[in-house]
Amino acid sequence: MSTEGVIYRVAGPVVTATGISPKMYDVVHVGNEQLMGEVIKIVGDYSIIQVYEDTSGIKPGEPVTNTGRPLAVELGPGLLTSVYDGIQRPLPVLRDKMGDFIYRGVSAPGLDHDKKWDFKPTVNVGDEVSGGQVIGTVQEGPILHKIMAPVDIKKSKVDSIKPGSFTVDDTIAIIGGREVSMLQYWPVRVPRPVSEKYQPDVPLVTGLRVLDTMFPLAKGGAAAIPGAFGTGKTVTQQSLAKYSDAEIVVYIGCGERGNEMTEVLTEFPELVDPRSGESLMKRTVLIANTSNMPVAAREASVYTGMTIAEYFRDMGYNVSLMADSTSRWAEAMREISSRLEEMPGEEGYPAYLAGRLSEFYERACRAKTLCGEDGSISVIGAVSPPGGDLSEPVTQNTLRIVRVFWALDTKLRERRHFPTINWLTSYTMYDKQLLGWYKANVAEDFPALRAWAMQTLQKEAELQEVVQMVGSDSLPDEQKVTLEVAKMIREIYLQQNAYHPVDCYCPLPRQYKMMSLIKKYSDMSEKALAAGVTVDKISSLPVRLRFAQAKYEENTDAEFDAVEKDMDAQFGTLGV
Ligand code: ADP
Ligand code: MG
Repeated sequence: MSTEGVIYRVAGPVVTATGISPKMYDVVHVGNEQLMGEVIKIVGDYSIIQVYEDTSGIKPGEPVTNTGRPLAVELGPGLLTSVYDGIQRPLPVLRDKMGDFIYRGVSAPGLDHDKKWDFKPTVNVGDEVSGGQVIGTVQEGPILHKIMAPVDIKKSKVDSIKPGSFTVDDTIAIIGGREVSMLQYWPVRVPRPVSEKYQPDVPLVTGLRVLDTMFPLAKGGAAAIPGAFGTGKTVTQQSLAKYSDAEIVVYIGCGERGNEMTEVLTEFPELVDPRSGESLMKRTVLIANTSNMPVAAREASVYTGMTIAEYFRDMGYNVSLMADSTSRWAEAMREISSRLEEMPGEEGYPAYLAGRLSEFYERACRAKTLCGEDGSISVIGAVSPPGGDLSEPVTQNTLRIVRVFWALDTKLRERRHFPTINWLTSYTMYDKQLLGWYKANVAEDFPALRAWAMQTLQKEAELQEVVQMVGSDSLPDEQKVTLEVAKMIREIYLQQNAYHPVDCYCPLPRQYKMMSLIKKYSDMSEKALAAGVTVDKISSLPVRLRFAQAKYEENTDAEFDAVEKDMDAQFGTLGV
């Protein structure tokens, strides 16, 4: 079998080579500059390769080498705080080697192979271990990096293991006669195994009221955020990265503009993690394959990110993975497919679009890992439908797979209602499974409050149709109150400014308190009406202003208590 061949044809990111007899998905080096690519189709002696680097200037006749290995990532200490391109090359290292130009043909390992880490064994000589089991730890910033026996090790005795300062290549243990280091390679297209998948019955707590209360995502679940340009996909994903209760964040910037990624790169290191008091970056891995980088690497960036996420899940951590934007990945698939002259499906996307998307989202899970701990990957994928048209194929195919849909709405954006998540069209299919958790961990009546709030918003939508025809004056008083209350739910509860120092994050007990207060206001208003008080009198109570402001106050929880006292006192003056 030959591993050396030549380029036969170049068509943008797709190169055809002859003479290499590869397997599907083998990694090859293409041209004089040895650009990295992956075999995606084999026809007789022709190997069709998608190249992850810019192919301008390469031409037929140049050499091609098959490595015989699939695209794999390096896993081990040093992943955290890293910023990678789509094929796990550290961007800072590339910049040092190449300046700010196109990085071509540069190989740079994903991990620093010179750095030494302080390794502490957690098993002893003579212990039996099997693949995936933790054999020691390395403290990596705020995260305890667990060193796991390679997955393919069958139950065997530890022949030797010692503490000390090691690079990722050094042998730290001998297990069943095999030398083991802290470094593992893993092919990105292959999901890492777990021992048992769990039902998704614990929420990913985000601190965003509209998500936690109305449309929660389960840990280990997948959500899609579709929205037109400028509706808040990136801001929402960044809020989730910052505040959701996952220990590890993997953020994939896929095909979006470079300046958005620059924001992430400059902002994350400055953000203080509320749990550890350290920089958020210390528990984050960023993958930046921006719009100016080669399209073929978008797919690689998504798989690279997922594999790194699985590695941390395997240690027993909760990982949140953001992909911004999956539409750019789908567009890359479309471009490659058209270069391959495949039969186009809907809107030119290849027929395998749905399959690829589901392979990706299905790697989200909460599970008992091989090391016996519980870990999860929650996936949040942004979708950028052209013109905000949700009927297009990427959105539609994504919605068939994910169970949470956060629909960003251009009209809400025009009204400056942020986050622009539409409460009438968004949904979660985890609500029933999460019910028990919310009852046990927030309040017994939290689900009932949520249902009441949703109903009120629904009623508002119906009433608004009437109001549009005949005006609000003609509505009976109790319906006027419903409209008032719905407005409070929207403005006080659902609106949340991602940039406000206090309101950017709202803990669950505060969410409960706020919703209880709105319900209380609603109940007291109904009582007042029943006692003959006019709607105008109710809505002129000063407590409403204080209520609307309370979420912005520094002592916000005390302020909500004060709002409750005011409410009692002021409705008291109305005889309630
Ligand atoms: P997209 O990624 O969908 O194109 P962005 O996330 O970049 O949109 O959001 C566009 C702008 O909308 C932001 O720069 C910000 O001004 C505003 N915005 C979005 N979400 C919020 C929010 N939750 N709070 C305040 N402003 C927001
Ligand atoms: Mg964006």
